[in-house]
Amino acid sequence: MRTITHWIGGKSEPGTSTRTSPVWNPATGEQQAEVALANQVDIGSAVATAAAAFETWSQSSLSTRTKVLFAFRELVNQRTQDIAEIISDEHGKVVSDARGEVQRGLEVVEFACGIPTLLKGEYSDQVSGGVDVFSFRQPLGVCAGITPFNFPAMVPMWMHPVAIACGNTFVLKPSERDPSASMLVAELWAEAGLPDGVFNVVHGDKEAVDALLDHPDVAAVSFVGSTPIARYIHERGSANGKRVQALGGAKNHAVVLPDAPLDYASDHLVAAAFGSAGERCMAVSAAVAVGSAADELVAVVSEKARAVQVGPGRDPASEMGPVVTAAARDRIVGLIGSGADQGATLAVDGRGLTVPGYEDGFFVGPTVIDNVGRDMDVYREEIFGPVLSVVRTDSVDEAIALINANPYGNGTAIFTSSGEAARRFQRGVNVGMIGINVPIPVPMAYYSFGGWKDSLFGDKHVHGPEGVSFYTRAKVVTSRWPEVEQSTGASYHFPTAT
Ligand code: NAD
Repeated sequence: MRTITHWIGGKSEPGTSTRTSPVWNPATGEQQAEVALANQVDIGSAVATAAAAFETWSQSSLSTRTKVLFAFRELVNQRTQDIAEIISDEHGKVVSDARGEVQRGLEVVEFACGIPTLLKGEYSDQVSGGVDVFSFRQPLGVCAGITPFNFPAMVPMWMHPVAIACGNTFVLKPSERDPSASMLVAELWAEAGLPDGVFNVVHGDKEAVDALLDHPDVAAVSFVGSTPIARYIHERGSANGKRVQALGGAKNHAVVLPDAPLDYASDHLVAAAFGSAGERCMAVSAAVAVGSAADELVAVVSEKARAVQVGPGRDPASEMGPVVTAAARDRIVGLIGSGADQGATLAVDGRGLTVPGYEDGFFVGPTVIDNVGRDMDVYREEIFGPVLSVVRTDSVDEAIALINANPYGNGTAIFTSSGEAARRFQRGVNVGMIGINVPIPVPMAYYSFGGWKDSLFGDKHVHGPEGVSFYTRAKVVTSRWPEVEQSTGASYHFPTAT
């Protein structure tokens, strides 16, 4: 059995722990590797290596850092297909979708290539007689990233390119379910000329995460994953004096008004609900059909759901792959059953789907559940599978109230041809990322990504300007260069500008 090891100090490291976790091929249902699970000693070694590397990397010039980032950008671009295939084999998503996530990660690298501009400080001349004030930002030290299984390349790239460009060093703890993409990314950083120890990868589970959260030399923690773990990471990391941004789960609603073009809206709904088998934090999992839109919408969406080509991620004909593990499949299947038991209508039932030649794969077919009530488990839970729940409301205001009553606030969308309704929606919903006739409104890399409410714990969103702010801290310098003969002696009142 192949063992996936850590990457510490610019090379592969087996670590000292004997614990491992299986890595599956979701399309075949077979175990393809095992991944080492780091213990406290392994985390200590990665953090010590990163802390030593910080001494020199934090002093490197902006142009040195930019050159490495541009080289890294080129290498990720060249190796996009390789990264995408690794993702597909361990996550299950189709290769074209995996290429898309690498592309979106690459956009953050491109944003970070502009670090000389992003780190420009402020300067105020002559704030008082002979006094100038200026500010500049410095890196924090060792930053840790703890990331989910669903975007094994993109989500870490929300973090490490920005952190490293800012002069920090980084320890990444990727998901133990699909760990290999991070190892190739580590090799590409090394090939790009990043000094050893600036970017490290440790695999593991709670034991490794807790060791990072408790390590005194970890200055900041970026987390993306489910809400209960995000809350825990924020609490424990903050209690240990670290800067923490912890992005959690989601229940993203897409509102469809009767004036929306039906074909356009339904195409986008099925793509956003079933793409990547619904395992996206910005997946649309609740369609909110307003007024007379409902019946026809359910009919058209159901027809399109039945037409989705489900198969192994490596098959170019597949539009949707399996879910990540057998446990994930069983949970999704159970939730679909609960919808039927609790009185919803299964318009399309994806349970029991088998793919010829891949009978042991972790497949669930696209599922559409109509007449979903807000107390039902399928509405309250983040299903994280290819399941679209349809909730019916009478007005756009009722749809806004529904969204605002939900504990999550990651993304949402509205489909309409009314500018007035769209504007009311964008101003009224308590959600961090909003799409208007755009189903998965993931902001471009030069904006910041983050939800509201239980979808984010901490103050800063990731990448974009807030990412740069998260990975740096400011100094403000007040300076005076007096001529010696100007001295007027000591003054004991509180200094004010003159
Ligand atoms: P998860 O919370 O199970 O795991 C995320 C990370 O936390 C992994 O690295 C895992 O090893 C670690 N972890 C798991 N249990 C832990 C514990 N008890 N203590 C400490 N660490 C622990 O999430 P997942 O299943 O890998 O990913 C899916 C979730 O991530 C979904 O809820 C999805 O919405 C969310 N997500 C959110 C965003 C966002 O931007 N808000 C983006 C992607 C995914």
